[in-house]
Amino acid sequence: MAQSDLYGVLGVAKDASQDEIKKAYRKLSKKYHPDLNKAPDAAEKFKEVQDAYDVLGDEQKRANYDQYGSADGAQGGFGGFGGGQQGGFGGFGGGQQGGFGGFGGGGGFDDIFNQFFGGGGGQRNPNAPRPGRDLQYQMDLTFEEAIFGKKTKIKYNREAQCHTCGGNGAKPGTSPVTCHQCGGSGYVTTETNTPLGRMRSQQPCPVCHGTGQEIKEKCPTCGGSGHEEERHEVEVTIPAGVDDGQQMRLQGQGEAGQNGGGYGDLFIIFEVQPSKDFRRDGTEIYFDQDISFVQATLGDDVTVKTVHGDVKLKVPAGTQGGTTFRLRGKGAPRLRGNGNGDEHVTIKVVTPKNLNKGQRDALRDFAKASGESVTGSGKGNLFNKMRDKFNEN
Ligand SMILES: [Zn+2]
Ligand SMILES: [Zn+2]
Repeated sequence: MAQSDLYGVLGVAKDASQDEIKKAYRKLSKKYHPDLNKAPDAAEKFKEVQDAYDVLGDEQKRANYDQYGSADGAQGGFGGFGGGQQGGFGGFGGGQQGGFGGFGGGGGFDDIFNQFFGGGGGQRNPNAPRPGRDLQYQMDLTFEEAIFGKKTKIKYNREAQCHTCGGNGAKPGTSPVTCHQCGGSGYVTTETNTPLGRMRSQQPCPVCHGTGQEIKEKCPTCGGSGHEEERHEVEVTIPAGVDDGQQMRLQGQGEAGQNGGGYGDLFIIFEVQPSKDFRRDGTEIYFDQDISFVQATLGDDVTVKTVHGDVKLKVPAGTQGGTTFRLRGKGAPRLRGNGNGDEHVTIKVVTPKNLNKGQRDALRDFAKASGESVTGSGKGNLFNKMRDKFNEN
């Protein structure tokens, strides 16, 4: 298995912008999130999408991938192959159930192994602890939840350390022993006669699959893998002021590692729903306030909506439409640091429609007092009236 077409995984063009990549990633990771999508291959698709984004979402890794077909560039070797975040062998294939770390299992392993190490390598210690995979969780927040933060509990499936054997894969009361085949190295050397002479090559040990340890009696719960799937619940405290697309890392809430390696991390990605009243840019909130032309002309104390509750705003006489006022401290909290941003209120002056006779007369008097001559009657025409009626319904 070569590194797959990461652009194809995200369904974007090779020259897609970072924005397009991010958008595609978010759409797909939501679509395949194991908590939302119960299809049997959803978890696998979800990981593929994550792995693709790991590379394409990072300018440097993407450039390497474009040039060398691998995120780590020409000398990267095995480490980041498959977009693994852990480095080392663990990241390969992304397989959750692989018997050996993240290896996908199957024939692909030997091929790639030989291809990279020319059959002569194997200096890595197969017994070294490897941390577990990181996971991602997409969390929807309302506009207000993102501003004020909240405490919540989330649930998701993950590969955990087996509770019966504590992760070593052996039946309770027994322990893994040094592999009799490879003596604990995890590799076996084979020699083959070829027309070019004798070729030596190293292969992962077929008995212990590279772990160097042999389990004589397997744990009945996990069948020797040391892992079991669990429904995991975490309490999350979302800080006030998070924004759309931001991530939060929860250490140790990812998947269990191998050979005593720790748990990976969980990344929570926030998707913030838009508000029907407000727009937000970082800590600044924007709001449009309708006022009548009388209020704009004579001035008034206007009640303005903010996320922190209603506020009185003094609109001075003669305020033009499009004027912006700043309500200090009525924006979103600063994530690092104190206080809030501001709310920016843009005044929209509403032109009255469907005037009654008293209003029309008053305006004609107003025009007269202003020395202004206006030809319109203020009655509107039949078409406008019908349109207004229609829009009301
Ligand atoms: Zn077990
Ligand atoms: Zn062995």
